[in-house]
Amino acid sequence: MFERMQAVEEDITALAVDAIVNAANMSLLGGGGVDGAIHKAAGPQLLTECRTLQGCETGDAKITKGYNLPAKYVIHAVGPVWRGGKNNERQKLESCYRRCLEISCEHQVKSIAFPCISTGIYGFPKEQAAEIALKTVRECLEKMPEIERVVFCCFSGEDRTRYRALLRE
Ligand code: ADP
Repeated sequence: MFERMQAVEEDITALAVDAIVNAANMSLLGGGGVDGAIHKAAGPQLLTECRTLQGCETGDAKITKGYNLPAKYVIHAVGPVWRGGKNNERQKLESCYRRCLEISCEHQVKSIAFPCISTGIYGFPKEQAAEIALKTVRECLEKMPEIERVVFCCFSGEDRTRYRALLRE
Protein backbone atom coordinates (compact mmCIF):
# COMPACT_ATOMS: atom_id res chain seq x y z
CA MET A 1 0.00 0.00 0.00
CA PHE A 2 2.62 2.54 1.06
CA GLU A 3 4.51 2.31 -2.19
CA ARG A 4 1.42 3.64 -3.99
CA MET A 5 1.37 6.83 -1.86
CA GLN A 6 4.08 9.49 -1.72
CA ALA A 7 4.51 13.07 -0.51
CA VAL A 8 6.44 15.63 -2.54
CA GLU A 9 7.05 19.37 -2.26
CA GLU A 10 6.12 20.79 -5.67
CA ASP A 11 3.93 23.14 -7.62
CA ILE A 12 1.03 20.83 -8.54
CA THR A 13 0.68 22.41 -11.98
CA ALA A 14 4.07 20.95 -12.95
CA LEU A 15 3.23 17.33 -12.18
CA ALA A 16 3.00 14.84 -15.02
CA VAL A 17 0.29 12.61 -13.59
CA ASP A 18 -2.99 11.53 -15.20
CA ALA A 19 -5.00 13.91 -12.99
CA ILE A 20 -4.32 16.73 -10.59
CA VAL A 21 -6.90 17.74 -8.01
CA ASN A 22 -7.91 21.36 -7.64
CA ALA A 23 -9.01 22.76 -4.27
CA ALA A 24 -11.86 24.69 -5.86
CA ASN A 25 -14.77 26.68 -4.49
CA MET A 26 -18.45 25.88 -5.09
CA SER A 27 -18.70 28.12 -8.15
CA LEU A 28 -15.87 26.25 -9.93
CA LEU A 29 -15.16 29.58 -11.60
CA GLY A 30 -11.69 30.10 -10.23
CA GLY A 31 -10.21 31.60 -7.10
CA GLY A 32 -6.92 32.19 -5.37
CA GLY A 33 -4.33 29.75 -4.08
CA VAL A 34 -3.92 26.50 -5.93
CA ASP A 35 -7.11 27.17 -7.93
CA GLY A 36 -5.64 30.36 -9.41
CA ALA A 37 -2.36 28.61 -10.20
CA ILE A 38 -4.14 25.74 -11.99
CA HIS A 39 -6.30 28.03 -14.12
CA LYS A 40 -3.29 30.15 -15.03
CA ALA A 41 -1.24 27.13 -16.10
CA ALA A 42 -4.09 25.31 -17.87
CA GLY A 43 -5.15 28.34 -19.91
CA PRO A 44 -8.55 29.98 -20.50
CA GLN A 45 -10.22 26.89 -21.97
CA LEU A 46 -10.33 25.43 -18.47
CA LEU A 47 -12.62 28.21 -17.27
CA THR A 48 -14.79 27.78 -20.37
CA GLU A 49 -15.33 24.11 -19.52
CA CYS A 50 -15.84 24.89 -15.83
CA ARG A 51 -18.66 27.30 -16.73
CA THR A 52 -20.62 24.36 -18.17
CA LEU A 53 -20.49 22.40 -14.91
CA GLN A 54 -22.99 24.45 -12.86
CA GLY A 55 -20.82 24.51 -9.75
CA CYS A 56 -20.23 21.72 -7.25
CA GLU A 57 -21.39 20.84 -3.74
CA THR A 58 -18.99 20.86 -0.81
CA GLY A 59 -17.51 17.37 -0.41
CA ASP A 60 -18.04 16.52 -4.06
CA ALA A 61 -15.85 16.84 -7.17
CA LYS A 62 -16.14 17.25 -10.95
CA ILE A 63 -13.66 16.43 -13.70
CA THR A 64 -12.45 18.48 -16.66
CA LYS A 65 -9.67 18.20 -19.18
CA GLY A 66 -6.23 19.56 -18.27
CA TYR A 67 -5.66 21.66 -21.40
CA ASN A 68 -2.13 23.16 -21.24
CA LEU A 69 -1.20 21.25 -18.10
CA PRO A 70 1.00 18.16 -18.24
CA ALA A 71 -1.88 16.36 -16.48
CA LYS A 72 -4.63 14.99 -18.74
CA TYR A 73 -7.40 15.88 -16.29
CA VAL A 74 -8.20 18.28 -13.47
CA ILE A 75 -10.56 17.00 -10.78
CA HIS A 76 -12.11 20.00 -9.05
CA ALA A 77 -12.95 19.16 -5.43
CA VAL A 78 -14.75 21.53 -3.08
CA GLY A 79 -13.38 21.21 0.44
CA PRO A 80 -15.18 22.45 3.55
CA VAL A 81 -14.53 25.85 5.07
CA TRP A 82 -13.32 25.27 8.66
CA ARG A 83 -15.97 26.57 11.06
CA GLY A 84 -14.67 25.18 14.33
CA GLY A 85 -14.98 21.45 13.57
CA LYS A 86 -18.60 20.77 14.55
CA ASN A 87 -20.10 21.32 11.12
CA ASN A 88 -19.20 18.01 9.49
CA GLU A 89 -15.89 19.41 8.26
CA ARG A 90 -14.19 16.01 8.71
CA GLN A 91 -16.87 14.10 6.79
CA LYS A 92 -16.84 16.64 3.99
CA LEU A 93 -13.07 16.52 3.64
CA GLU A 94 -13.13 12.69 3.62
CA SER A 95 -15.80 12.85 0.95
CA CYS A 96 -13.61 15.09 -1.25
CA TYR A 97 -10.75 12.60 -1.29
CA ARG A 98 -13.09 9.65 -1.82
CA ARG A 99 -15.03 11.30 -4.66
CA CYS A 100 -11.80 12.25 -6.46
CA LEU A 101 -10.67 8.64 -6.39
CA GLU A 102 -14.06 7.32 -7.50
CA ILE A 103 -14.05 9.74 -10.43
CA SER A 104 -10.49 8.66 -11.21
CA CYS A 105 -11.61 5.05 -11.52
CA GLU A 106 -14.43 6.07 -13.87
CA HIS A 107 -11.91 7.79 -16.17
CA GLN A 108 -9.08 5.24 -16.07
CA VAL A 109 -6.89 7.66 -14.13
CA LYS A 110 -4.01 5.63 -12.73
CA SER A 111 -1.94 8.42 -11.17
CA ILE A 112 -3.36 11.38 -9.28
CA ALA A 113 -1.94 14.27 -7.27
CA PHE A 114 -3.77 16.02 -4.43
CA PRO A 115 -2.99 19.42 -2.91
CA CYS A 116 -3.64 19.85 0.83
CA ILE A 117 -7.36 20.55 0.30
CA SER A 118 -9.00 23.14 2.62
CA THR A 119 -5.78 23.98 4.49
CA GLY A 120 -5.16 27.35 2.81
CA ILE A 121 -7.85 30.00 2.63
CA TYR A 122 -10.44 27.54 4.00
CA GLY A 123 -8.52 27.26 7.29
CA PHE A 124 -8.73 23.53 8.08
CA PRO A 125 -6.10 22.59 10.73
CA LYS A 126 -3.21 21.12 8.80
CA GLU A 127 -2.35 18.13 10.97
CA GLN A 128 -5.95 16.94 11.13
CA ALA A 129 -6.42 17.48 7.40
CA ALA A 130 -3.32 15.42 6.61
CA GLU A 131 -4.51 12.56 8.83
CA ILE A 132 -7.91 12.59 7.12
CA ALA A 133 -6.32 12.69 3.66
CA LEU A 134 -4.04 9.74 4.30
CA LYS A 135 -6.63 7.61 6.10
CA THR A 136 -9.28 8.15 3.45
CA VAL A 137 -6.95 7.54 0.52
CA ARG A 138 -5.51 4.44 2.14
CA GLU A 139 -9.00 2.99 2.69
CA CYS A 140 -10.00 3.75 -0.89
CA LEU A 141 -6.84 2.28 -2.40
CA GLU A 142 -7.56 -1.04 -0.73
CA LYS A 143 -10.68 -1.24 -2.89
CA MET A 144 -9.18 0.35 -6.01
CA PRO A 145 -6.26 -1.72 -7.31
CA GLU A 146 -6.44 0.13 -10.64
CA ILE A 147 -5.05 3.31 -9.06
CA GLU A 148 -1.30 2.92 -9.16
CA ARG A 149 0.03 6.13 -7.65
CA VAL A 150 -1.28 8.87 -5.36
CA VAL A 151 0.93 11.91 -4.85
CA PHE A 152 0.31 14.28 -1.95
CA CYS A 153 1.58 17.50 -3.45
CA CYS A 154 2.71 19.75 -0.62
CA PHE A 155 3.51 23.39 -1.16
CA SER A 156 5.84 23.80 1.82
CA GLY A 157 8.60 21.77 3.41
CA GLU A 158 6.59 21.79 6.62
CA ASP A 159 3.65 20.06 4.95
CA ARG A 160 5.88 17.54 3.24
CA THR A 161 7.55 16.65 6.56
CA ARG A 162 4.12 16.21 8.14
CA TYR A 163 2.90 13.91 5.36
CA ARG A 164 6.09 11.88 5.33
CA ALA A 165 5.88 11.33 9.08
CA LEU A 166 2.25 10.19 8.80
CA LEU A 167 3.07 7.95 5.83
CA ARG A 168 5.65 6.13 7.96
CA GLU A 169 3.14 5.34 10.73
P1 ADP B 1 -8.52 26.02 0.14
O1 ADP B 1 -9.44 27.14 -0.24
O2 ADP B 1 -9.11 24.66 -0.14
O3 ADP B 1 -7.97 26.15 1.50
P2 ADP B 1 -5.98 26.98 -1.06
O4 ADP B 1 -5.65 27.03 -2.50
O5 ADP B 1 -6.09 28.26 -0.32
O6 ADP B 1 -7.35 26.13 -0.97
O7 ADP B 1 -4.94 26.06 -0.30
C1 ADP B 1 -4.91 24.67 -0.38
C2 ADP B 1 -3.47 24.19 -0.31
O8 ADP B 1 -2.85 24.34 -1.60
C3 ADP B 1 -2.59 24.96 0.67
O9 ADP B 1 -1.83 24.01 1.41
C4 ADP B 1 -1.67 25.77 -0.24
O10 ADP B 1 -0.40 25.99 0.34
C5 ADP B 1 -1.55 24.86 -1.43
N1 ADP B 1 -1.12 25.44 -2.72
C6 ADP B 1 -1.21 26.71 -3.16
N2 ADP B 1 -0.71 26.82 -4.41
C7 ADP B 1 -0.27 25.58 -4.76
C8 ADP B 1 0.36 25.02 -5.92
N3 ADP B 1 0.64 25.76 -6.99
N4 ADP B 1 0.66 23.69 -5.91
C9 ADP B 1 0.36 22.93 -4.85
N5 ADP B 1 -0.24 23.38 -3.74
C10 ADP B 1 -0.54 24.69 -3.68
